[in-house]
Amino acid sequence: MGRRIVIIGGGAAGFFAAANLQQLPNDVEVVILEKSNKTLSKVKVSGGGRCNVTTSLDQVGQLVKQYPRGEKPLRNLFKAFGPVELRQWFEERGIPLKAEDDGRVFPTSDSSQTIIDCLREEAQRLGVKVMHGEQVVDLSQKPEGWTVTTSGGKLWEADLVMVAIGGHPKSAAYDWLSALGLELEKPLPSLFTFNIPDSPLLTLAGTSVPSAEVKIAGTKFSYTGPLLITHWGLSGPAVLKLSAFAARHLAEKDYQFQVLVKWDQEWNEDAVRNWVSENRNSQAKKKIVNCPLRPLTQRLWSTLMELAGIPEEMRWADLPKKSANKLINAMVSMPFEVAGKTTFKEEFVTAGGVKCSEVDFKSMQSRKLAGLYLAGEVLDVDGITGGYNFQNAWSGGYVAARHMVEQLKN
Ligand SMILES: Cc1cc2nc3c(=O)[nH]c(=O)nc-3n(C[C@H](O)[C@H](O)[C@H](O)COP(=O)(O)OP(=O)(O)OC[C@H]3O[C@@H](n4cnc5c(N)ncnc54)[C@H](O)[C@@H]3O)c2cc1C
Repeated sequence: MGRRIVIIGGGAAGFFAAANLQQLPNDVEVVILEKSNKTLSKVKVSGGGRCNVTTSLDQVGQLVKQYPRGEKPLRNLFKAFGPVELRQWFEERGIPLKAEDDGRVFPTSDSSQTIIDCLREEAQRLGVKVMHGEQVVDLSQKPEGWTVTTSGGKLWEADLVMVAIGGHPKSAAYDWLSALGLELEKPLPSLFTFNIPDSPLLTLAGTSVPSAEVKIAGTKFSYTGPLLITHWGLSGPAVLKLSAFAARHLAEKDYQFQVLVKWDQEWNEDAVRNWVSENRNSQAKKKIVNCPLRPLTQRLWSTLMELAGIPEEMRWADLPKKSANKLINAMVSMPFEVAGKTTFKEEFVTAGGVKCSEVDFKSMQSRKLAGLYLAGEVLDVDGITGGYNFQNAWSGGYVAARHMVEQLKN
């Protein structure tokens, strides 16, 4: 009988590994066990159907900063195979990619199907077998290799096993991995928007500012970026980044917390105060409502005035000190009571999973269990939006594949 590699999970990491198992000795069979009836289903829906496949941020030091969990171990992984190598990999296979102004990289076809077709063709060319409806429920190590058990009771013998089951919100999904002695970080959601049922700005849904600062009151968690007012609260890159970096803290708070918004990250309280005093003198006769400070939109400015109790008709010269203070506060530190979260465009990732310390990121092999590889979101690694989560999956899949080939050649 020949040898076998079993890849558990036909998602981004599993498929990319399969597509990179070139030059395997002839006696090695590769099988992907996929629990559902579809592979690459997240790739299909990703990036609104366009697949934000990676990023144009190439500098490893900056790249790893986009990962609230995994920053340190990812350094080695991205040095071996990062966004530059990934883009080259697709381009060599006739899939041109394009970078947008914000650094997100998509196939020029603007269709995730292009990526899926390419990965499937590569895997097929290498003779990879894909078995659908095979949910792995147990994995055990034997003196020589592994036995993989699926829910139907079928046993798969394997010389090497790669676990690429993605992220799961419930710890139970990882029970068969903890049974092997692998340590886990509790899984919880990352990348979400804030529900603010009592927000006075709900009627301004659709309004955005390009560069706000959003801070979680009483903590050091504070992020900047575009901020969007939604009909349920606040969203946009600044909020998503904050949700990712503070994911554990916010879960502990049961998603009940206060955020403070400064509508432009460049502002500081003294400068805004000076601007108000200057207007009192130089614009004394003008109506306050007609003088919004950029980048506030007219509607947002009017609402902030209303919240500060300033009538629409009021002129700068008549602005009482108390109302001025309230207005300044709403501009540089407006409080919102968050009560719950909402998934961002159905795009979510799991923080938590198998601890990074369990894996040697130079090979993606388990440090404790020889012949067991792990990659992708199953690990306690997650990035912010922008192609970073796929990049983790591609890089882990690639490095694991190349190491598995070397191992079976020897
Ligand atoms: C709607 C949406 C949009 C997204 N868009 C983007 C984007 O544009 N860019 C980006 O970088 N990231 C995006 N992400 C995140 C990205 O999809 C994931 O981080 C990435 O797919 C993780 O790859 P993975 O291979 O680790 O897991 P997955 O792609 O989730 O694959 C895991 C596979 O394993 C299978 N599986 C699970 N358990 C078992 C089991 N016990 N036995 C057998 N098979 C099993 C699953 O069915 C699945 O097919 C998006 C996520 C979502 C939900």
